[in-house]
Amino acid sequence: MLPFYLGMQDNGRMANENLNLPAWTVEQAAALFQVEGWSQGYFRIQDSGALCVNPSRKGEQGVALGEIVKGLSDRGYSTPLVLRFPDILQNRLAHLASAFEDAIEENGYQSSYHAVYPIKVNQQRHLVEQLVEFGQEFRFGLEVGSKPELLAVMPMTADHPERLIICNGFKDDPYIEAVILANKIGRNIVPVVENFRELERVIRYAEKYQVHPKIGVRVKLASQGVGRWRESSGHRSKFGLFLSEVLQMTELLKQHDMLDCLQLLHCHVGSQIHNIRLIKNVINEVGHIYVELVRLGAGMQYLDIGGGLGVDYDGSASATDSSMNYSLEEYANDVVYRIGHICDNAKVAHPRIVSESGRAMVAQHSMLVFDVLGRNSVETVASGPGDLEKWSANKEVPLPLQDLQDAADNLDEDRLVERLHDISQSRDEALDLFALGYLNLEGRAIAEKLYWSTCLRLRDLMRGSGDHPAELEELEHLLRETYFCNFSVFQSVPDTWAIQQLFPIMPIHRLNEEPTARVVLGDVTCDSDGKINRFISGGEPQPALAVHTLKEGEPYYLGVFLVGAYQETLGDLHNLFGDTHVAHIRVDDAGRWSVEEVVPGDTAREVLEYVQYEPERMEARLRKDCEKAMRAGSMTAAESRTLMKFYVDGLNGYTYLEG
Ligand code: PLP
Repeated sequence: MLPFYLGMQDNGRMANENLNLPAWTVEQAAALFQVEGWSQGYFRIQDSGALCVNPSRKGEQGVALGEIVKGLSDRGYSTPLVLRFPDILQNRLAHLASAFEDAIEENGYQSSYHAVYPIKVNQQRHLVEQLVEFGQEFRFGLEVGSKPELLAVMPMTADHPERLIICNGFKDDPYIEAVILANKIGRNIVPVVENFRELERVIRYAEKYQVHPKIGVRVKLASQGVGRWRESSGHRSKFGLFLSEVLQMTELLKQHDMLDCLQLLHCHVGSQIHNIRLIKNVINEVGHIYVELVRLGAGMQYLDIGGGLGVDYDGSASATDSSMNYSLEEYANDVVYRIGHICDNAKVAHPRIVSESGRAMVAQHSMLVFDVLGRNSVETVASGPGDLEKWSANKEVPLPLQDLQDAADNLDEDRLVERLHDISQSRDEALDLFALGYLNLEGRAIAEKLYWSTCLRLRDLMRGSGDHPAELEELEHLLRETYFCNFSVFQSVPDTWAIQQLFPIMPIHRLNEEPTARVVLGDVTCDSDGKINRFISGGEPQPALAVHTLKEGEPYYLGVFLVGAYQETLGDLHNLFGDTHVAHIRVDDAGRWSVEEVVPGDTAREVLEYVQYEPERMEARLRKDCEKAMRAGSMTAAESRTLMKFYVDGLNGYTYLEG
């Protein structure tokens, strides 16, 4: 992979004709943005240059994302928008189920596979309800990690006694009492014991209500996780029992004649497992614990291997944090084969395999689209007003400015690095003079103009010479443009900020044109962290994104993909930018699309109320002030109407920029 700046011409732009390459093709665009790797066939670029979605992954049909964005705008829903594709979700669930079914058949495995969706990954009601609907034919269940999550799912699995509800996380008295009682309305519910006090509660309520419940136990494995979530396992992990405690647990259950209730063994070694070796190690360890529990007389039925199945965010199929070095089929095969093998050796019946794959089920099905509002570039300063000769007429030119002008006039190709050092020094000295009051504002503006224009010329000369890669990289970094975009990093892709996660990001149109600019993305929050400056490349993350130059009066849209897992509910209200509109889009096999539902984004009124403001009172107060100003003659009635209209429309409007 070439460094991103190689092959660029002036102003960070690339031109195929300069390199004597053929005209830009959509295949080049697909390779540049790694579309094939991360999209798994759900997205592809049409010859027209439009990125299109193809949930069934069959044939050449697909719908241009730009067409959907336009259709939603016509209905009154402007960007930023989350687009959800339930058909992709359905396809993902079917793929997961079939990977395990195939592995079960291939390995002669004597039991079944049951996925449970951990709703913390994305608790939005529409999504969970659809998951329950689409997962019915595969007997998929749900996993909860808190009391509110339990309350959300308890009514959902009615009439489906086969579908599991797995209860992880900390559990207080009322939580466990509710779980035990849920058995009486036919729920297939399993409290997973994470500490000893929970076990005592389970026994107490089971005896009180005469219920013989299924019980699970989470164990602390010795196999240490990898990547960002490595602390989810090992002896220091927050959850689970040491094996000595598991032995005590079996004793206690035996004393209460409940050892047959212990039916599920659970482990979770962290999210986004990128290396298949860890999965093999975990299954080996947990498989042996399972057969030991059977030997001790527990009523074991289920082996729950937790979450962790990865998503290939950067499309590189490698063992890195943003990727994974295995396929879903390999994962299923490894899990099934190893569990079967360990049980066969120990002459133990094969357990039902449960997995809590959250990310892998839902990440693909939703994306964020936003519009670019404008750009910020040092070129504006470099070509702006300011003339040293005119400004310095009849006065002595301060030395740093003289040096800057001198460097600009004498760019010697053999001394580019020296010149870079000189102008950096002179600019710093000019700034010091300004801070001490020896240089006025015009003088400082001229120093900045000279500095930035010389930087741009130095960069172009360095690119041409192919020498000085380290200095050139520094300059590229310094001179990079920013595209300001209508979204909030903190609301819509918080993991890019919190854990430096990479997501595929690319233009959704004009892909038959060469994207000649390289930019970082700035969001609309007033926070310098509100930016994205790491992008996928198929190798090392790159500091700039390839984009097209903006055209006057034409909207430009970028998409962030694979955001269905964790992003929506981890997002926050920084600067009071609220939830975006979420549109559920169905696409049929003939490539026709329709809006199934739109969940409108937060209004300013809603986010203000969330932080305890009272919009009604605020509006009344402002109206009063307008009346007062009108009485005092400082405001006309028409002006008052305009201001109040702004205020009321603002309260009822989207929190993002519109129009
Ligand atoms: N199960 C448990 C207990 C978890 O803590 C998590 C998340 O970390 C998951 C399942 C889901 O993991 P993933 O989304 O990586 O599949």
